[in-house]
Amino acid sequence: MTSRLDQRIEDQRDALVALTQDLIRIPTLNPPGRHYRDICEYLDTRLTAHGFDCKLVRAKGAPGDSDTYPRWNIVARREGPKQGECVHFNSHHDVVEVGKGWTKDPFGGTVEEDRVYGRGACDMKGGLAASIIAAEAFIQEHPDFAGAVEISATADEESGGYGGVAYLAEQGWFAPSRVQHVIIPEPLNKDRICLGHRGGWWAEIETKGEIAHGSMPFLGDCAVRHMGAVLEAFEAQLFPAMQARHTDMPVVPDGARQSTMNINSIHGGQPEQADDYTGLPAHCVPDSCRIVIDRRFLIEETLDGVREEVIALLDDLKARRPNFDYEIRELNHVVPSMTDRDAPIVTTVAQAIRDVLGQDPSYVASPGSYDQKHIDRIGTLKNCIAYGPGVLELAHKPDEWVGIRDMLDSAQVMGRSLEALLLK
Ligand SMILES: [Zn+2]
Repeated sequence: MTSRLDQRIEDQRDALVALTQDLIRIPTLNPPGRHYRDICEYLDTRLTAHGFDCKLVRAKGAPGDSDTYPRWNIVARREGPKQGECVHFNSHHDVVEVGKGWTKDPFGGTVEEDRVYGRGACDMKGGLAASIIAAEAFIQEHPDFAGAVEISATADEESGGYGGVAYLAEQGWFAPSRVQHVIIPEPLNKDRICLGHRGGWWAEIETKGEIAHGSMPFLGDCAVRHMGAVLEAFEAQLFPAMQARHTDMPVVPDGARQSTMNINSIHGGQPEQADDYTGLPAHCVPDSCRIVIDRRFLIEETLDGVREEVIALLDDLKARRPNFDYEIRELNHVVPSMTDRDAPIVTTVAQAIRDVLGQDPSYVASPGSYDQKHIDRIGTLKNCIAYGPGVLELAHKPDEWVGIRDMLDSAQVMGRSLEALLLK
């Protein structure tokens, strides 16, 4: 049944579309991080007019932050007249590069039938707009609510979130004492609740050799052959071991319910020459070969275990393969995050989905990661989900769009969740 709040949100259809268009028209491209200040100022003006107390926070010194491309974030808070909990909606405001293949203006915000088009439409300016409309409608309907509503728009999620949510979490913005519930309106589809994500470990492995003339390779030592031995060991031992490990996390798609590893790149020997170079290669034995691995792991595994598994395999090669030597450099890591299915934010949003859509939600987890990792690990807040409008598969694609009906439905789910959590 349509509630008064549902109707109030429904009546904001045009405002929701206009807000989504405005956000798309600010081209917050990452990299390098353009117009972050502009989008924060736009939101500051809008949310201040709706009674929010807004703070613009620059992640000074965070990776990527510079005076040319400062990492700006905004946190907006509106407190009710009574004591209560705080519900926080966190959206990233950055978008990825445009890429080829567009038939619409990527920063035009074109509306056709039920869709708004543009880079970031679904990932995730549509979700940001839906959460703003939901919060504003809730406050108008229930000005005497208990607790607080917060909306943040943060930088750099597409490049790890270190100038965005990670920075804010380090500064205490997500401490459990000030925020009790977090919804991240990423485009997970309006009937799905995303409980968390797998972990990731990125490392560069280098095998060492000795340069010599290519006609007498026995006088040197070929680093590429040593790397071949590493890859063979991965095939024989590591990949089968990972494939046998399954998670209880509801990761989608199915293939990501086990441990996985991508070999991201391989470089060895002479650097590749430009396409227009017509000379022949010089005859050298390569003295170095490097690969970058992208290992995604399950909540049932540990980061140390993941690391040690690879290092043990390399040490084993070192023990039995003549002249084998290696170096390993960790590039980055992300720990898995998984909110309990009976956490208050999960059960609240699940009930709101039943009420608005008339169906049970499905529960998923993400194969990659998003900003929940920082809220969980740095902010130590375990009551966090991703829920928002949009089709995940459209993210980062040409002619990205978000459905207007989907935005309205998920705004109603968000509004009803606020009612459940903040009315006394
Ligand atoms: Zn996103």
